[in-house]
Amino acid sequence: MLISRICSVFVLVVVLVLVLAPTGHTVAQLSGDHSAPRPASSPEMHQRLAGSAFLDNAGYDVLRRLSDEAGGRWIGSVENERGMQILEEELRRHGLTPRRETFSVPGWRRGDDEVRLVSPADRVLRVAALGYVDATPAFEADLAWMNRGTAEDFDSLQCEGRIALVTQEAQPGRETPLRSEVIRVAAEAGARAVLFINDRKGGQLLCGMGNFQGEAAPVPAFSMTWEEGMRLHRLIDAGVPVRMRVTTHSRCVPVESANIVCTLPGRSSEKVIVGAHFDSWDIGQGSVDNGVGTALLFDIARMLATLSPENERTVEFVWFNGEEMGLWGSRRYVEAHRDDAIVAMINMDMTGSPRGFSAMGNDHFLPLLEELCAELRGYDMSRGVINALWTNSDHQPFMLAGFPTITPLGHLDRETVTTYHDFGDTFDLVNKRYLSEASGVVSILAFELANRISVPVVRRTAAETAAYLRAGGLEQRLRRQGEWPFD
Ligand SMILES: [Zn+2]
Repeated sequence: MLISRICSVFVLVVVLVLVLAPTGHTVAQLSGDHSAPRPASSPEMHQRLAGSAFLDNAGYDVLRRLSDEAGGRWIGSVENERGMQILEEELRRHGLTPRRETFSVPGWRRGDDEVRLVSPADRVLRVAALGYVDATPAFEADLAWMNRGTAEDFDSLQCEGRIALVTQEAQPGRETPLRSEVIRVAAEAGARAVLFINDRKGGQLLCGMGNFQGEAAPVPAFSMTWEEGMRLHRLIDAGVPVRMRVTTHSRCVPVESANIVCTLPGRSSEKVIVGAHFDSWDIGQGSVDNGVGTALLFDIARMLATLSPENERTVEFVWFNGEEMGLWGSRRYVEAHRDDAIVAMINMDMTGSPRGFSAMGNDHFLPLLEELCAELRGYDMSRGVINALWTNSDHQPFMLAGFPTITPLGHLDRETVTTYHDFGDTFDLVNKRYLSEASGVVSILAFELANRISVPVVRRTAAETAAYLRAGGLEQRLRRQGEWPFD
């Protein structure tokens, strides 16, 4: 009897284990020990994360505060500092512990510049100095049409002692020179300054850097509107002499700044980095570039810290500063964390409604990314998984240091991106639903990378990295930007 009772109890336990194991219930739970949090299975955690992203989109409200209470958050500015304080305040309010990783960089500060048409008419033009344009005493000079500002254009057209007027309209089949290249060639040709005509209409400017090295630009250079640029071009075309007066108060200054970091320690120090740049250009509110990424990262950190506080690997959330000025925050982060075991850096820069992922040339991510695209049927993952790589956002310093990166592919509506790097980058353009969609998908990706040990930690050597970038078609671009460190 006793034996048969023991047997039936044993059989009962075996049955319970077999029935309940797939749901993740542990025997411990069964025995009434509810202290240990029940680790959710992947599919279950995916549902929680995707659901939470819609239930409580806190990032949208944080972004409204950043856009309205701080505005354009140029690195080293009071607006940037105000923005960091708002972000830290909100992170703490949601139970996270932000810290600042400080750094210093060659900075830049916009001044009260003026580009004035003095003849045949008197008019102050709407312009924005490019970054690293340094203070220059006021001067007057004639304006010369320099077409697209290529070396050939400066060879064939006279510009010595004059101001170069250059169009940024792309020509099919012809490579568009980088503004840093035009400025260098213009200075070598003896030009006094460069005016870049924007290729978008509507009174828009296109902020950008004169170079990414932190050196003072050899001559003042400005973005100007299409409308005023076309007027000046027509005057020159008609043979009317055009004279300008340029006054530059913007200047290069050393800057102290910081990245904002929150860490979710894992059972191992292997790290998954989820990053987005926090800074923005100054003339708009920086709501899309990169307020969207900043808000997404906020919600991803909030959700993972709440729903999946314990992971196999460490997850680090980094709001990089100084991206627009030359990827300075991410460069400084990589310098400071060069010896970390980084599984992946996920970069979010103006990430819209999810459409897929780029494995950025890292084949070992393909199985996971394809699996997620297949699973996320509620989203329009129509672009699936690509393996292309590109430059000019915070993933770049990680790529250059041999760390693997992933970029979520997203869709933003046309009107949201036409005001890129302009006055019109404002909060009203932000799509709240797209934020919820993207933070759900990226938090699921981060959760998987942090718990799926089968995804290896890979680090390329310098030689492997050079080969990887060459194969990815990035060598020329990086050389032209002065950012190829492998010679
Ligand atoms: Zn950006």
